[in-house]
Amino acid sequence: MDRPLYLVVNVDSDPDPVSEFQDDAVILAKYRRMQEILAAHTGGAAAWTVLTGPMYRRRFYEEPFIGFWRDVVEDGADLVLHPEEDLYGPGPGTAPDSTTYYHTDHMRGVIQDCVEAMTSAGLPLHAYRGGYHGFTPEIGAILKDVGISIELSCAPGIVWPQKAANWNGAPLSAYYMDPEQPARHSGHADNGALFEIPWAWDAKAPGQSRPFVVGENYIINEFSNLTAMKLVWDAVAERAATADALQIVSMVCHTYTMGREEFETRLQGILEHVRESGARFVSPMQAKAIFDDHAAEQGAPFRRAN
Ligand SMILES: [Zn+2]
Repeated sequence: MDRPLYLVVNVDSDPDPVSEFQDDAVILAKYRRMQEILAAHTGGAAAWTVLTGPMYRRRFYEEPFIGFWRDVVEDGADLVLHPEEDLYGPGPGTAPDSTTYYHTDHMRGVIQDCVEAMTSAGLPLHAYRGGYHGFTPEIGAILKDVGISIELSCAPGIVWPQKAANWNGAPLSAYYMDPEQPARHSGHADNGALFEIPWAWDAKAPGQSRPFVVGENYIINEFSNLTAMKLVWDAVAERAATADALQIVSMVCHTYTMGREEFETRLQGILEHVRESGARFVSPMQAKAIFDDHAAEQGAPFRRAN
């Protein structure tokens, strides 16, 4: 029997390291390797980010990358708008103790530009994930304006005001977001609310692996280890089992480590562990449909948005 347990794999496609330019062929080879691993382990379901930032505003929104995005969508993935305004930046007018994510007019331009580029390529962006978990109610309002209905920045417990991340007290599983308070669920039926899929958390500590990067309390392939990632997953599975409550969460893995055996093996290990737990891998859009169906069955106030 299926368990009420779902994982969205966030694929962060940033071409790290930031300091070293990497040409398209090198980046695409890593993307292809990640695509292969996901095809084998998740059936292709994933949330593939498409990076934008001051250094690379439209680089990944043009060929040859457009062709690659088309392929992953065909595999069953959804595409995610992913601004890294500070990492591949910083953006104009950003003080050292502030972040571009608070500059709403700047963010509006970025979001509209990327949506326009992908729309003209015939590829919808279904979700959004800010760098360093940065997100504001103002960004949420812009997303709704451009037709993006799913948000993936939430790491429950993380509070980094320097990066516009405030996820203290956020639900541990997917929820419809209160437009004024992103870490709170919308308490009433609101067809316009953003659907948030939080990062899987053990709910023990909001630990960091380095400044502004989460660590072993979350599932982050490059900044944790297999044992720790399995423990986080087991905590999520336990919640589904004991409370018989639907659990929809996400993890993250980065394409820049592809080709390095240690990271490939670790990623395959956690995906296998998740599969063995009886969970299903889903894209953000599939996750939203599952949540809506489940809520309709339970008679909850949330209704399918369309
Ligand atoms: Zn990133």
